[in-house]
Amino acid sequence: MILFKESDDLKKFILSQKQQGQKIGFVPTMGALHNGHLELIHQSSAENDITICSIFVNPTQFNDAKDFEKYPITIESDIEKLENIKCNVLFFPSVKEMYPDGITETKKYDLGKLETLFEGEFRPGHFQGVCVIVDKLLELVTPQNLYMGQKDFQQCMVIAKLISITGIYTKLHICNTLREKTGLAMSSRNERLSKEDRQKASLIFENLNYIKEHIQDFSFPELQSKVLDKLNENQFNTEYLKLIDSTKFEELTDFDFNKKMYLIIATHFGGVRLIDNIPIN
Ligand code: AMP
Repeated sequence: MILFKESDDLKKFILSQKQQGQKIGFVPTMGALHNGHLELIHQSSAENDITICSIFVNPTQFNDAKDFEKYPITIESDIEKLENIKCNVLFFPSVKEMYPDGITETKKYDLGKLETLFEGEFRPGHFQGVCVIVDKLLELVTPQNLYMGQKDFQQCMVIAKLISITGIYTKLHICNTLREKTGLAMSSRNERLSKEDRQKASLIFENLNYIKEHIQDFSFPELQSKVLDKLNENQFNTEYLKLIDSTKFEELTDFDFNKKMYLIIATHFGGVRLIDNIPIN
C-alpha cells in the first residue's frame, strides 16, 4: 500500500493512474477502522482498479469539542488492516494539509431540510463540515466511485446532494450496515463503550426490530412510545426515534405501506452518541 500525506503527491499519482485508464474507488473515513469500513474497501476493490482510503478526523464536522478530543485514533493498526486487505492507497493528511488557511471555513452548501432535520437538528453545523471536507477530498481524488455506509443514512443523502451541487462526476454507492454479533451497528465510537455497555447497546437494534415486527399490531406512535420508555428504563437518553419516508426524507406520523419507510434513531448511552437505522418494508 502506498501512503500519501500530501495532496500534491496524491494528485500526481492519481493523474498517472487515470492516464493509464485506471478506475478509482474512494472510501473516506475518520479511521479507528472496523469491519464496516473494511467492507466498503472490499466493495471498492471488487469494482475498481485502484482503491483509495482516506483517514482524516475532520475538525469542522464536530459540533461537540469533547467528542472531537475523544475520537479514537488507532493509525498503526488501521495501516495494518488496510495492508491486510490489500487497499492500494492510504491518504492520511494533517489538518494543516486539508485546511491550509485554518479551520474557519466560509464556504456554505445549500442542503435544505437535510441540514435542519434529525441529525441536522441535533448536530448543528455538522453536515456543513462534512460537505467542506468531502468536497475537498472529491476534488482531489476525483474518483469514479465513492463508497459510504448506510449506517450514516442522512450523511449519504447529504453527499448525494453535494455531488449534485458540485456536478462532480462520481457515483455514490451506499453499502449495508455491518453489525457486531449482538446487532449493534459497528462504529468507531463503540470503542469508547465499556464491555458491558457495548453488550447492552444491542438494545438499539433489538428495539428497532421490535417496531418492525409489530407494525401490524400497533400504530407507530404507540410503538415509538413503548420503545422510548424501554430505552429510557435502560439508561439510554434518546435524541430522536423517527419513522421516515426515505425517498422524500420526510417524517411520517404513522406507517404508510405505499412509502419506502425507515426507522432512524440517535441515542446516548454509556457516554457515547450512537446512531442506527433500518428499512421496515
Ligand atoms: P467514519 O469513519 O465513521 O466517518 O465512517 C467512514 C465510512 O464508513 C462512512 O461512509 C460510514 O457510513 C461507513 N461506516 C461506518 N460504520 C459502518 C458500518 N457499521 N457498516 C458499514 N459502513 C459503515
